[in-house]
Amino acid sequence: MGLLSLGTPLSWEEIKANGYDEHIRRHGLIQFVNLYNKLKDRPCDMLKWGDEVEYMLVKLDHENKSAKLLLKAEEILPRLQEKEENNPGGDSNTLWHPEYAAYMVESTPGKPYGGLMAHLNTVEANMKLRRQELEKLLDTAKGETALTLTAFPRLGCPSFSTPWYKPNPSNDDGIYKSLFIPDETIYLGHPRYSSFTKNIRKRRGEKVAINIPIFKDKNTLTPFVEEFVNDHDGEGARAAKPDHVYMDCTGFGFGNSCLQMTFQACNITEARHLYDQLTPLCPIILALSAASPIYKGYLTDHDVRWNVIAESVDDRTPEERNLEPLKNNKFVIPKSRYGSTDSYLSPNGERYSDIDLVLDERDCQELMDKGIDRQLARHIAHLFIRDTISVFAEMIGLDDNKDSDHFENIQSTNWQTLRFKPPPVNSNIGWRVECRPIEVQLTDFENAAYVVFVVLLTRTILTFKLNLLMQLSKVDLNMQQAQKRNAILNSKFYFRKDLQSCACDCPIENEQCLMSINTIINGGPLGDGQGDFPGLIPLINLYVATVETDLDTRCTIMRYLKLISDRASGKLQTMAAWMRNFVTSHSEYKHDSVVTDRINYDLVTACDQITKGQMTAPELFHCTESKSSNDIPNSVKVAQEIV
Ligand code: ADP
Ligand code: MG
Ligand code: MG
Ligand code: MG
Ligand code: MG
Ligand code: MG
Repeated sequence: MGLLSLGTPLSWEEIKANGYDEHIRRHGLIQFVNLYNKLKDRPCDMLKWGDEVEYMLVKLDHENKSAKLLLKAEEILPRLQEKEENNPGGDSNTLWHPEYAAYMVESTPGKPYGGLMAHLNTVEANMKLRRQELEKLLDTAKGETALTLTAFPRLGCPSFSTPWYKPNPSNDDGIYKSLFIPDETIYLGHPRYSSFTKNIRKRRGEKVAINIPIFKDKNTLTPFVEEFVNDHDGEGARAAKPDHVYMDCTGFGFGNSCLQMTFQACNITEARHLYDQLTPLCPIILALSAASPIYKGYLTDHDVRWNVIAESVDDRTPEERNLEPLKNNKFVIPKSRYGSTDSYLSPNGERYSDIDLVLDERDCQELMDKGIDRQLARHIAHLFIRDTISVFAEMIGLDDNKDSDHFENIQSTNWQTLRFKPPPVNSNIGWRVECRPIEVQLTDFENAAYVVFVVLLTRTILTFKLNLLMQLSKVDLNMQQAQKRNAILNSKFYFRKDLQSCACDCPIENEQCLMSINTIINGGPLGDGQGDFPGLIPLINLYVATVETDLDTRCTIMRYLKLISDRASGKLQTMAAWMRNFVTSHSEYKHDSVVTDRINYDLVTACDQITKGQMTAPELFHCTESKSSNDIPNSVKVAQEIV
């Protein structure tokens, strides 16, 4: 769980005026040191892992042929959480959490999975069970449904939610001040979301500005310039870039869904190693899972949500964004607090950490003076260049020996591709790594496939002692490539050539070369006499062959890997490509990039039917479920028994 402590939220002005930003930084660093010293030598923990799936509640109005986001999370979440509330830590198979928007909920398995292969055969069944629990609370007769859509195509268009509220761009005391999204769409059941949202805007000194390049179709206006109603102060017109889709509040990013996974490592050293090895994979799995080409009713030139979210929580001031000379702020900061990771954490990674790490040398020195090694000290000091954006009045004075809330405060608002998570105080949880880039897919089959693929990849890397490290600057380039339209088919990515070597004698730039995702995933010749790349899936297959696996689980794994393999080769489409295709071949589409209300309705209805197995989509996947998922109660029971 991130930081969700309840209390009275403080405004950015109150935080600044009372010096709480500095207070939380100072105490957060001490709390980390205390945590580290207490827990660094935790003896061997077991591999445990689990997924997080975020759902959007949708209402399909079949009469008016319109699909809307359904603001019902506050009503149904308490019911979803009842089991856990009545029996905390009990044997529930599912857990439910609040999410940012009033139309979102999040679920995780009731308990993390363990290291057995048989667990992989229960992931999909558990996801199905979660979806069933959610669907039970919806009025399906009235068209209510829950979808695992990464981005709702018409979020931010007039009347996109039900009930509908008017946005209030003139209200500076409001949360968003958005031209497009009303504050009522934020999940208000917990004050943290609205509080950090408003504080981001206040700290930045203006609304956030998200500009994503528009997909230029043959009838798209050139230049494409949006016109805004109610843009009284002209902020929208000033911030919107030509030939881009403009969005103006945090809801455009945090109102999107994703699929995350967390791994508990056996100790801190393994966690740091795993973090590093997963780093170059983040852009690759982002592109492989691409599922969100449409924003605010327009087809864009991007296939994924990443930059939308990064810009949607960018609280950097103009000074920090290098638009004005530094006067009131300490640093120019190249990235938003939502972004790709900036440093490696293992000894082998140091050589490849070639990004300038912005940090306060005094913070770093303080951490090192208290026993933290330089690499980890730099990572933490870098996280701590950010100010707190969410504080509760009741949570200021804490006991740094017992609490870690101030550390968590900064840690949990650095939203990066990976998160290195220390054990919570007083728990039996170990050092963990969270993997955050994956876009959520429509079906439980696909989501289970992506999850199992990443789990197996971690085990393959650890078992065969593979080395995927490469320059971080190249990982960042990959991160931008990964977002482009049809990146799987059209983009090349830097990737390490020799996964078996620690460090080569050659110049560091030559350890990696440009490859297609197909080569990275399925293997193939590297060209220019550079030999063959083995491919991640063939390596996973080697690993699977070495461990004892029952036949049923093996079949399930093969189906999952086939999906990933065929998406990588282009034999199957990504969700993003499928959606583009759906829109551009719709009879109402005018080749002007506009996804009308009716197209949206047909698209979201098709998504609902695919989710429910009522419509086939052979372009997306060969089968909609693995063999074993047919019997949900049984699979879930098996998972419990083998924990
Ligand atoms: P957050 O929102 O902070 O990422 P969640 O509580 O939503 O956290 O999800 C945590 C995920 O981590 C779950 O999928 C859970 O199963 C998994 N997990 C991995 N290892 C552990 C562990 N040792 N204890 C508890 N959860 C774990
Ligand atoms: Mg979560
Ligand atoms: Mg959380
Ligand atoms: Mg979440
Ligand atoms: Mg989220
Ligand atoms: Mg998470």
